[in-house]
Amino acid sequence: MTQAQYRVLIVEDEPSIRDVLRTLLQTANYRVVEADTAARAEIEARSHKPDLLIVDLGLPDGDGEVVIRNVRKWSPVPILVLSARTMEEQKISALDAGADDYVTKPFSAPELLARARAALRRNARGSEQTSVLKIGDLTIDLGQRTASTPRGEMHFTPLEFRVLECLARETGRIVTQRQLVREVWGPDRDGDTRSLRVFIKNIRQKIEPDPSRPRYLITEAGVGYRLSAPVTL
Ligand code: CA
Repeated sequence: MTQAQYRVLIVEDEPSIRDVLRTLLQTANYRVVEADTAARAEIEARSHKPDLLIVDLGLPDGDGEVVIRNVRKWSPVPILVLSARTMEEQKISALDAGADDYVTKPFSAPELLARARAALRRNARGSEQTSVLKIGDLTIDLGQRTASTPRGEMHFTPLEFRVLECLARETGRIVTQRQLVREVWGPDRDGDTRSLRVFIKNIRQKIEPDPSRPRYLITEAGVGYRLSAPVTL
């Protein structure tokens, strides 16, 4: 074994999708445990202590979201959600329940593996307390409350910086609009996504080389935002 083998728990009731996931993950050198119901998922999660959970939201004995909530009571393990393309509300509520990210069905193999790797990396990094974050060309200094790129240093209003900081602390991960609004303005302003959009626009003006075509601060339509290093193809 050349590298530590991660253990992944697949929670999916559809045998054909389970087969695809198992083959894909085993080929990529993961160890795989499977569960086809919500009840089984919790038993397997407790007994196998997986490094990552991939959870389908529609399970025969309940909602995958319940699995997420229950696992979150005792474990910070990364959780990826599998969901149908059009179920925005379902995705948002799974992320609010504590999922780390989601992959939309039908998924591509490289996308699923990339999301799995990113979730595992964030978890490994999670315990480090760092005040300077590097995201591609972008450097964010949480202590100085500034950001810079090779083009120069940028300054932010306190609220802009809180939005940016909230996204930067979850680099690569989707943050829902509700999570951002709560984090920045508190629970009273729960529905105020209009202000959020204004701040996102202002931040893009500062950090994006071309604000009309964002490469760092990505909109996940109907769900939220993700700050990540630009993908170079
Ligand atoms: Ca299902």
